[in-house]
Amino acid sequence: MGAFGQRWIAALFVLGMTMAGVCTAASAAGAGIDANAAVSGSGEALSPGAIDDTLREADALKITDFARYSRLVDAMTPMEPRLDNDQRGMLHFLRGWRATWLGDYEAGRGELEKVIDPSVNSVLRVRALATLINLLGVGHRYQEAFQRLAELQELLPSVRDRKARFQALGEASQLLSTAGQFDQAEAYAREMMAQPPPGETICKGAQHLLRARREANRLSSIEPVFEQAIGTCTARHEDVFAESMRADIAAFYLDHGRAADAVALLVAHRDNLRALDYPQLLSEFDAYLARAYLALGDLANARRFGLLAVAGAIRDEFTDPRRTGYLVLYQVEERLGHAPQALAYHEQYMAADKAYLDDIGARSLAFQIVDQQLLARKADVDALNKQNEILRLSGALDRQQVETGRLYIFILGLALVAIVWLVLWLRRSQLRFMKLARRDGLTGICNREHFVEQAERVLAYGARSDRGLCLILFDLDHFKNVNDTFGHAVGDEVLKRAVNVCRRSLHACDVFGRLGGEEFAVLLPDCSPAQARARAEQLRLSIAATSATPSHPELQVTASFGVGSTLQCGYELHRLLVVADAALYRAKRAGRNGVFMGDTGDIPDSPYLTESGA
Ligand code: GH3
Ligand code: MG
Ligand code: MG
Repeated sequence: MGAFGQRWIAALFVLGMTMAGVCTAASAAGAGIDANAAVSGSGEALSPGAIDDTLREADALKITDFARYSRLVDAMTPMEPRLDNDQRGMLHFLRGWRATWLGDYEAGRGELEKVIDPSVNSVLRVRALATLINLLGVGHRYQEAFQRLAELQELLPSVRDRKARFQALGEASQLLSTAGQFDQAEAYAREMMAQPPPGETICKGAQHLLRARREANRLSSIEPVFEQAIGTCTARHEDVFAESMRADIAAFYLDHGRAADAVALLVAHRDNLRALDYPQLLSEFDAYLARAYLALGDLANARRFGLLAVAGAIRDEFTDPRRTGYLVLYQVEERLGHAPQALAYHEQYMAADKAYLDDIGARSLAFQIVDQQLLARKADVDALNKQNEILRLSGALDRQQVETGRLYIFILGLALVAIVWLVLWLRRSQLRFMKLARRDGLTGICNREHFVEQAERVLAYGARSDRGLCLILFDLDHFKNVNDTFGHAVGDEVLKRAVNVCRRSLHACDVFGRLGGEEFAVLLPDCSPAQARARAEQLRLSIAATSATPSHPELQVTASFGVGSTLQCGYELHRLLVVADAALYRAKRAGRNGVFMGDTGDIPDSPYLTESGA
């Protein structure tokens, strides 16, 4: 035998309820009812403090004065609507506990489930859960029992109340043992032993530990701590725990071929156990005694205790004592050669064994189902956590994106600054290039293209405003000789000097340009032909009067001038240039260093035709 889960219903009912603070039904029934005056009165005048006191008193009296406890609970019931959450929870707990104890499991369950609500304080919830787990186990509602156990285990870490925690650990250890979860059962039992709350000892924890270890076949000997615990239980009058441990020790002896030791132990304490009035535990004793006597060949005693075990087993429950009893009875009859009796017991044994094993299977299966459900729920929670993590990360990513965005904007800003700088630089160089493109490289005045452009613009303006303009065209005389005589560099100097001399006598609005080689042009806005001629004459004299270059003071340069006027040829630059050029040509032909006015053409008597020259 030695299968786990043995005697579990008896253990749950008897030990569980005892742990939850129950005296036996017998002692409760004997207690007198001494009603509290306030409670037995109208039941309406209790202050909140008095309500708390009454509930606390009822809770404390469960173990010592069941009748008074029961009466207090009844007296509190009409006040239920005026109670706060915790008080109402306590009242449900007390009623549920009473119903469970009285065997009304449905009512007990209904009351206890009302306590298991998040609005109720966790200590009371733990107590209610522990009681409910006990109740559900007794009622074979294993799956619900393990579901409630999971709730209890979830609550445990937050429960600081040592008594409630102790009770919860006991229920958890017991239930887990019945499902073959011995590691956890052992761990809880060891915690109970290590930290019993005030008023408790190693007694109860040791009882759970011994059970878990024996059912798990982990005992190689009965360790001294269990002997010590039995002593402690006895000293504190918790005999039922001591006897339960003795049953386990006897079973250990039986499993290790020590039938005589088992008989000695069980016989020595059987009378004490009978006095305690725990029939289920007694039937365990009897079943072990039957096995032990059979092993010793004492068939008469084996039959006697086999019959006692079967008779004492819980009615309608297929417990280990029942199947063990039938097994021993069948073997006794078989050994005695009573075939029909043996066959009858064998059939009963088979039925009891099957039902018992089915029950164990149901418990294990329930545990596995709940375990899977919890795993699935945990997986869901994990998935949710992952999702939250992703959200958190994506939030972080968003923040990072913002950071990246800022960096991006900063880089963009830098790029923009760089681009603006580049544009400005380009424009400046463009302007520089434009300027270079517009200027004559040697003299710095307008080159031919720019002069044309500027002159046309000014002419157009003159045309619109109907103002007269004149164009002076001049060319250095015998410049080739300068180059040939003094070299090209001196020729350049002469060109620059001639330009500077002219610039001094030009007005701001005049457009001065080098048309090519040593040929220059000046457009004079707001200028009559006479003024133009005078201006040209001024230029001619300036050039002629100035030494061509400081390096060669002896060198003298002159220029020949031709003048055209819009009065002669209109505002077209090309026409002006042609007329001025013709006048210039004539000046050259006339001997150079002179000013010639443009061809009068259709203005034959023009006073501006006067020519001057060297
Ligand atoms: P004219 O009096 O008939 O104008 O005779 P000229 O020698 O001045 O005329 P020509 O057209 O025969 O010679 C012009 C010379 O000017 C030829 C060329 O070498 C020179 N010249 C043109 N541009 C430059 C220049 O930028 N620098 C120098 N040093 N000489 C130039
Ligand atoms: Mg020349
Ligand atoms: Mg020339």
